[in-house]
Amino acid sequence: MKEFFRKGLFAVQNIYKALPVRLLPWFRENARDLPWRKDKNPYRVWLSEIMLQQTRVEAVRGYFLQFLEAFPHIRALAEADPDAVLKKWEGLGYYSRARNLQKAAKVIMEVHDGKFPETYAEILALPGIGAYTAGAISSICFEKPTPAVDGNVLRVTARMTDSHSPIDLPAVKKEVTGNLEKIYPAGSCGDFTQSLMELGATVCTPKSPHCTACPLSDICLAKKHGTAAVLPKKTPKKQRRKEEKTVFFFTCGDKVAVQKRNAEGLLANLWEFPNIPDVLSADAAVKAATAFGVLPDAPTKAKERIHIFTHIEWHMTCYYIPCRNTPSCFVWVKQDELSQSIALPTAFKMFLEDDDDRI
Ligand code: SF4
Repeated sequence: MKEFFRKGLFAVQNIYKALPVRLLPWFRENARDLPWRKDKNPYRVWLSEIMLQQTRVEAVRGYFLQFLEAFPHIRALAEADPDAVLKKWEGLGYYSRARNLQKAAKVIMEVHDGKFPETYAEILALPGIGAYTAGAISSICFEKPTPAVDGNVLRVTARMTDSHSPIDLPAVKKEVTGNLEKIYPAGSCGDFTQSLMELGATVCTPKSPHCTACPLSDICLAKKHGTAAVLPKKTPKKQRRKEEKTVFFFTCGDKVAVQKRNAEGLLANLWEFPNIPDVLSADAAVKAATAFGVLPDAPTKAKERIHIFTHIEWHMTCYYIPCRNTPSCFVWVKQDELSQSIALPTAFKMFLEDDDDRI
């Protein structure tokens, strides 16, 4: 707030007021041709917004079309086998998004008679939908003046007002949302939401913003003050926690051992190769293998890989161990069917790659 008075609240409000007239014509001329923009069907818009969280547009394109082919409407998603839904999400990461999509589809079938709810409050109440996604669906599909404020929009607004407040503070998001609510253009709410997103994604990009091509260049304070390169500010991040693991790629003939992860927590309900905390030597890994009940031969190779999640890093050593039995504590899947039959997250899928090895 202090910052507002320093720069002048009046100036900031005028910058916000100028947005619709600059952004709407620019968006209508420059919008990218994206598969989820073909119509304003809330199921498609919802699916695209969930997929696009933490994920690049180019990575989402293919997944979006394949997911829709498998589950073309809300009923199909609600009634699908949960493993089939995770399988279609395989490789996209952040799997709780897929689980919540299906939970929300069930709520829509049971509570809203299969019709996507139209009010912001009802949309926000669905599993896996936060303020950003509810604002996006409600404005794009139902023409409501509900801002969708994500990192892209916060970057644009921080720069255009030359705000040095950390954009990850809830108070900053609240302030930006309030300022946008006041200037939503009746009849063009959906396009306005998308124009802000589009500007952040294609012009006011995190690195090297294209100020000369920007429809806000004549009112942008960061451009005027030369501060775009250092904005937006964020609070310093905590270091990720490192976890070490030994992973076992047990094979018996043409089969490989897998197990299902817990129903709660990281990568819940997905499949994995057996693993234990800590990094073991090859000899110690063979000893540990017998504790699972397998009759192991010597490892044929080992691979070291790091997989990075938002708050955790897994530092993994995987031993490839032929076995002489198939204990029932694991599910034994044919190796050539592994990638088609079960949802294996990228953290484990990388051990299927036929690349360098040691031992
Ligand atoms: S003028 Fe530059 S810094 Fe300002 S909003 Fe446009 S791209 Fe971003």
